Amino acid sequence: MGQPRNIFIGAIKMEDYEELKYDVLVIGAGAAGMRAAVAASDEGAKVCLVSKSLLGKAHTVMAEGGAAAALGNADSKDNWKVHFRDTIKGGKKLNNWRMAQIHAQQAPERIMELERWGAVFDRTKDGKINQRNFGGHRYPRLAHVGDRTGLEIIRTVQDKVIHQENIDILMECTVTKIFAENNQAIGALAYYRNNGKLVVIEAKAIIVSTGGIGKSYRITSNSWEYTGDGHALAYLTGADLQDMEFIQFHPTGMVWPPSVKGTLVTEGVRGEGGILLNNKNERFMFNYIPEAFAAETAKSEKEANDWLNGVEGAMRPPELLTRDVVAKAIMKEVEAGRGSPHGGVFLDIANRRDADYIKKKLPSMYHQFKELGDLDITKEPMEVGPTVHYMMGGIRVDPETSSSTIEGMYSAGESAAGLHGANRLGGNSLSDLLVFGNIAGYSAANFAAKCEDLTIHKSAIEGAIEETLKSFDNDNTEDPYKMHAELQDIMEKHVGIVREEKSLEEGIQKLKNMEKRLEKLKTTGGREYNPCWHLCLDLKNMVITSLAVAEAAKERRESRGGHTRLDYPEYDEILGNLNIIIRKGPEGINVIKSDKDKMPDDLSDYVAKEAV
Ligand code: FAD
Repeated sequence: MGQPRNIFIGAIKMEDYEELKYDVLVIGAGAAGMRAAVAASDEGAKVCLVSKSLLGKAHTVMAEGGAAAALGNADSKDNWKVHFRDTIKGGKKLNNWRMAQIHAQQAPERIMELERWGAVFDRTKDGKINQRNFGGHRYPRLAHVGDRTGLEIIRTVQDKVIHQENIDILMECTVTKIFAENNQAIGALAYYRNNGKLVVIEAKAIIVSTGGIGKSYRITSNSWEYTGDGHALAYLTGADLQDMEFIQFHPTGMVWPPSVKGTLVTEGVRGEGGILLNNKNERFMFNYIPEAFAAETAKSEKEANDWLNGVEGAMRPPELLTRDVVAKAIMKEVEAGRGSPHGGVFLDIANRRDADYIKKKLPSMYHQFKELGDLDITKEPMEVGPTVHYMMGGIRVDPETSSSTIEGMYSAGESAAGLHGANRLGGNSLSDLLVFGNIAGYSAANFAAKCEDLTIHKSAIEGAIEETLKSFDNDNTEDPYKMHAELQDIMEKHVGIVREEKSLEEGIQKLKNMEKRLEKLKTTGGREYNPCWHLCLDLKNMVITSLAVAEAAKERRESRGGHTRLDYPEYDEILGNLNIIIRKGPEGINVIKSDKDKMPDDLSDYVAKEAV
């Protein structure tokens, strides 16, 4: 631990801060951050791992269905190329092709490595890692542990982290600023949530792995941590954000009771045979099969039942179409008056599998509905509807190294963009975390090894501390809780599951007005365990990322994957070859269209081929 030092901030007060120095700073201890920390420490770097929650409690722990990797255990026809094809198809071809290739090629080894580190996955009859079906995956591909896969993954990687010699961990410690000089990241300011004390961490390389942004919306499956901190910190440092318009609305969140609205109902329910019904008891997904998926989707009850009964070569049921397709189909059924009593549709597994099977394969879902909704899913259908779930957009990274556009700054996991394009396939996040966490950690450590020490200027530290403590000013008036509710209303209304120009413009104007009011946010109480202060700081990140989402959504005048424009309902060929980049300019956000990397012809031909 470093020596506490005193500084004077403006006319406010004397402040102490602790000073630490590392080769690599990892911000975020989900599976991406922890895998990165292991890789960096394996390369010999001295690593600091900072997490705003307790170790092991990151959002990754909530992941249910599984991690996608073409191991070929449940169907030997699977291989990395089919996984690559599915990812590109699911992402509506907006993915960074090279990231999708690296991911598909390296995911199996990362899963096997987890097993060597102690993870115990469900098994096939012959003792291999079992794999389940999920939306958009041609073959059963998700390595899983019932519906508690994230818990097993985080437990395993955490065990590895704490046994590495050169990783220090700062828990319940929130980063509020990344320092950069001459376009190079050199350290960060953070505060301990328990006592409010400040810490400056100098580092030669920084990895941002802070997860997503869902808390800007009211109905979300995301946890309290998802306030877009990494996106905003990177943007403010000058890094490019990419694909911010693409937010995944998961089709199946709980809709009842109101207190748990948005809580995820895993796609594993449909992967295990669950079907979607409207209030006329119609299996409506047969009416929503897009042309691009027609060749590989069952079009009748009989064909779908063949799949359920394991008939060789049977086509997947339409409930396993990609999430963007299923979410919009549910929305249309509800709009047409065919919804369930609480504004969703029915998800039925009770009439498809016997009770023991459901309890064994979906234990969390069984308990979740029993305890939160007083409903037995082995006997009755669930009520479900779309919920904000995943951020496809994020920090723009190089596919080979995970480096951002700021030197020495890397990103991996949900905070990074590129792999998933316009829509993520379920299961591809958990393997993303492991593959690109590893790459980011390796790259950051090797960058740090060649990098000279850079000192953070005292004036920069003073400015950052002043900003972090600003909401304690007695003259401030804005209530952060009210502002948060207002922000969520704006995002639900103007930047929701469907969007259009005029409404987006109104939303952007409201967000810009809110941005000005951030200055006046008021913390009541002191610095020890004060959620009011935490929210004041989180809100700044949420407003910045929300503006980035809205601006990008306005610029993409087409519908693709997680981004649906009522006024531009079709694909646009030109926009299909462009990424929308958000970059900080002197006057605020700059929106830039950037050419997407072109996929090599051999892979492009392969993706175009429907038969696999
Ligand atoms: P996280 O695990 O969210 O970790 C982020 C870390 O950053 C945390 O430690 C947090 O404390 C820290 N942090 C944030 N801000 C700061 C800050 N300012 N300072 C310091 N630390 C900070 N994906 C799949 O592939 N398969 C599934 O079955 C699946 N199921 C899911 C189920 C649910 C309910 C949800 C919500 C998501 C699911 N996902 C699934 C998605 C997947 O779980 C996430 O995308 C993934 O876990 C994100 O991991 P991460 O390492 O990027 O971030």
